[in-house]
Amino acid sequence: MSFFRLDKPVQFLKGVGPSRAESLGRMGIVTARDLLYHSPRRYDDASTIQNIESLQVGAEVTIVGRVRSKGLISTRSRLQIFQAVLQDDSGMITCAWPGQPWIERKFQEGDVVLATGTVRFFHGRQLQPREFIVLGQSGSEEVRERLSSGHIFVSYPASEEVQQWVLRSIFKKNMGTLLDSVEEEEYLKYSQVQELSLLGMREALEALHKPSSMEQVEQGRRRLAFDELFFSQTLYAMGRHHLNQESTGILFQRDNKLIGPLHESLPFDLTKGQVKVLREIYEDMNSTRRMNRLLQGDVGSGKTIVCLFAMLLAVEGGYQAALMAPTELLAEQHAITLQKFLDPLGIKVHLLTGKRSDAERRTVLENLRDGQARIIVGTHALIQKGVIFERLGLVVVDEQHRFGVKQRMALRDSDLTPDTLLMSATPIPRSLAMAMYGDFDLSIIEGLPTGRIPVRTLLHSPNERPKAYEKLESELSEGRQAYIVYPLIDDSDKIDLRSAKEGYRKLCRDVFPHRKIGLIHGQLSVEERDEIMNSFISGETEILVATTVIEVGIDVSNATIMLIENPERFGLSQLHQLRGRVGRGSSESFCILIADPQGTAAERIEVFMRTSDGFVLAKEDLRIRGQGDFFGAQQHGRDPVLKFADLTRDEDLLVEAQYRARSLIQDTPDLDGTNGERVKELLSSRYNERMRLFSVG
Ligand code: ADP
Ligand code: MG
Repeated sequence: MSFFRLDKPVQFLKGVGPSRAESLGRMGIVTARDLLYHSPRRYDDASTIQNIESLQVGAEVTIVGRVRSKGLISTRSRLQIFQAVLQDDSGMITCAWPGQPWIERKFQEGDVVLATGTVRFFHGRQLQPREFIVLGQSGSEEVRERLSSGHIFVSYPASEEVQQWVLRSIFKKNMGTLLDSVEEEEYLKYSQVQELSLLGMREALEALHKPSSMEQVEQGRRRLAFDELFFSQTLYAMGRHHLNQESTGILFQRDNKLIGPLHESLPFDLTKGQVKVLREIYEDMNSTRRMNRLLQGDVGSGKTIVCLFAMLLAVEGGYQAALMAPTELLAEQHAITLQKFLDPLGIKVHLLTGKRSDAERRTVLENLRDGQARIIVGTHALIQKGVIFERLGLVVVDEQHRFGVKQRMALRDSDLTPDTLLMSATPIPRSLAMAMYGDFDLSIIEGLPTGRIPVRTLLHSPNERPKAYEKLESELSEGRQAYIVYPLIDDSDKIDLRSAKEGYRKLCRDVFPHRKIGLIHGQLSVEERDEIMNSFISGETEILVATTVIEVGIDVSNATIMLIENPERFGLSQLHQLRGRVGRGSSESFCILIADPQGTAAERIEVFMRTSDGFVLAKEDLRIRGQGDFFGAQQHGRDPVLKFADLTRDEDLLVEAQYRARSLIQDTPDLDGTNGERVKELLSSRYNERMRLFSVG
C-alpha cells in the first residue's frame, strides 16, 4: 500500500510540478488533502446526458460530444459568434456562443465537451450553451471509453489556469494513493460506520470522485457531511468542557420566597411549553455544571417571563442577575416590563444604558457593586470597564445574534463564572441552532399562549394601494395605531423601490394630512429615535413610518395594522419579525403586503400568507436562502465551514454527531486513548485555526 501524508503539499503528487502546484494554490488547493476534498461541481449521468440525435427544439439539455470543427463568424451587425460542431455516436449539432469570441481559445478540435443549454431552431437545430466544460483533450482514451458506457461524468470547479482536464488527469494518476492515505485516517470503527449507515471514509471519497451511481454520490456526501458535523461538534464540546473546567458553575439554592409570589401574582398560567423549558433551565442552575443554554421560542411565546423566573432563582440563591439587550430602547422596554411583574414582590429593576446621566450612572454602579441591585437590565454599557458586580450569578442575553462571542463572554464577575442564558428573537431551525451554537444546550418553547388572535395577512397589488390606505384609516378612526414599513431609507435611482422618506412625504401631504405621522430609521441618532418611539408608545403618533429598525422587540399593543411596501425585499424571518409587531393586543390585527402577486417573490409571499408559525417560516427561509447566508450574517468568526452538510436535510446526522462528540469529550477530554488520538490528529490538520479559537475560549 502506498501511503502518503495528506498534509503534504500537492507538489509531491504525480503530475504536479512546481508551477502547477502554484496554480492549484491559487484555487485554494495547497495540500493533498485539499485536492482530495475538492468536490465536484456537478455530476451527469446517462439520465441527464442526451443523445445528440434525439434533441428536441425548445428542450433544456445536456450533451457530451467531440469537437469536429470550430470557427468564428462575424454577422452584419459586427457581432462575433463562436461556433463549434459537437458529435457523439448518434449525431451532430452546432453550438453557438454569440458575442463571446474569446471562447474559441478554449477549444481544440477533438476535445470532448459537455454542454448544457436550450435547443433552438436556427438554420437547423442549434444549442446555445449556458454552461460548458472541456472534459478531455484530443484523443483522451478515458473520455472515449466513458462516452460510450453509461458512466457518470464528474466535473470539478476549475480555473483558467487549471482546467477541467488537468484536474481529471491529476486525479486519475493519484486517486489510488490518496484513497489509501485517507483510509489510514478512518476514525470511526467499522461497527460505528454500520450503526450510522454511512460509508467508510475511503468509500465516501471514492464515491465523490468516481461514483457508479447518483445514489452513491449522495451516500458519499452524507459520510463527508457527518465528518464535518462531527468535527465541528467536537470543537464545540471541547469549548463547553473548557468553560466548565475553568471554574465550576453555581448551584443556586431555591427557597421559593420570590418564585412562589411571582407565580401567584401572574395574571395567567404558564403554558406547557414555558413550564418545560423552565424545568430545563432550573435543572442546569441547580447543578454545579455551568449553564450554557440557548432559549428559543416564536415571537410572542413568552420568553421574557421565562427569563424572569430564571433571574429570580439566581436572586433567591443570593446572586445578582443581569439582562443584556442590544439597544437602549429594548433595554428600557425590558426594564419596564420586568418592573411590572416585580412590583408586587417589592423588587426594583435597575437600568444601565449609555445615555443615563453621570449621576444616575454612578448610583447604579454603586448599587451593583454593593449588591443592593439584584436585577439589572442594560445594554453594552453593562460590559464596560468600571462595571463591577457584587455577585453576578446569571446573565441573560436577549437577541444573542447581535452580540459577538467576546461581548457575551465579557459579562462576568471577576471571580465568578455566571450561568448564561441566550435568547433569540426570531426562531431559527433546530439544525441551524445546533450547528451554530453547538456548545450551548437548546431549549425550545413549543406553542403560544392561548387566546391569541392570529394576525390577518392580506396581499394587495400596488394599484390597490388606496384600498390598503382605506383599511388603515378605518383602524385609525377607531383609535388604533399603524406601522408602514419600507425597505429603504432614501430613494435610490438604481432600484425602483419605495423609500421611507419619500413615502413619509407623500403620506403626510396627500394621504393622511389629518393624522400625526412619525418617521423612524437607522440614520437618526439614538436620541431622535427614542423620542419618536416614545411618542408612538404614548399614542400621540398615530402612524409610524419605518424601516426595519422597528423589527425587534417593540411592543405597542394598540398598534393593530401594518402595511409593508416591497415585501419581496425582506427575508421570511424578517417579515415574520415585522408582522409580530402587531397582534399584541386583544383585538384583531392586520398585516397588508403591497406586492405584485405574480412577482419574483410570489412563492415566498405565499408561504408567508399561509402560516404564522415562526419555525416553519425559518425552515423555509433556510431552504430558500441557503445556510451560507445565515452563517455569513452572524459574523461570529466561529461558524462551522460546511461544504458537504446540508442543514435542511442532515438534521439526523447532526443529532448523532453532537451526541457522539459530546460523549467522546466527556470520556476523554484531552482526546487521549486510541480513538481520541485519531480525532485529535484530524482536528489539528483540518481545523487548526478554529482549534486555536476554541482553546482560547
Ligand atoms: P417573546 O417570546 O416574543 O419575547 P414576550 O415575552 O414578549 O414574548 O410575551 C408576549 C406577551 O405574552 C407578553 O405580553 C406576555 O406578558 C404575555 N405572556 C407570556 N406568557 C404568557 C402566558 N403563559 N399566558 C398568557 N400571556 C402570556
Ligand atoms: Mg421578547
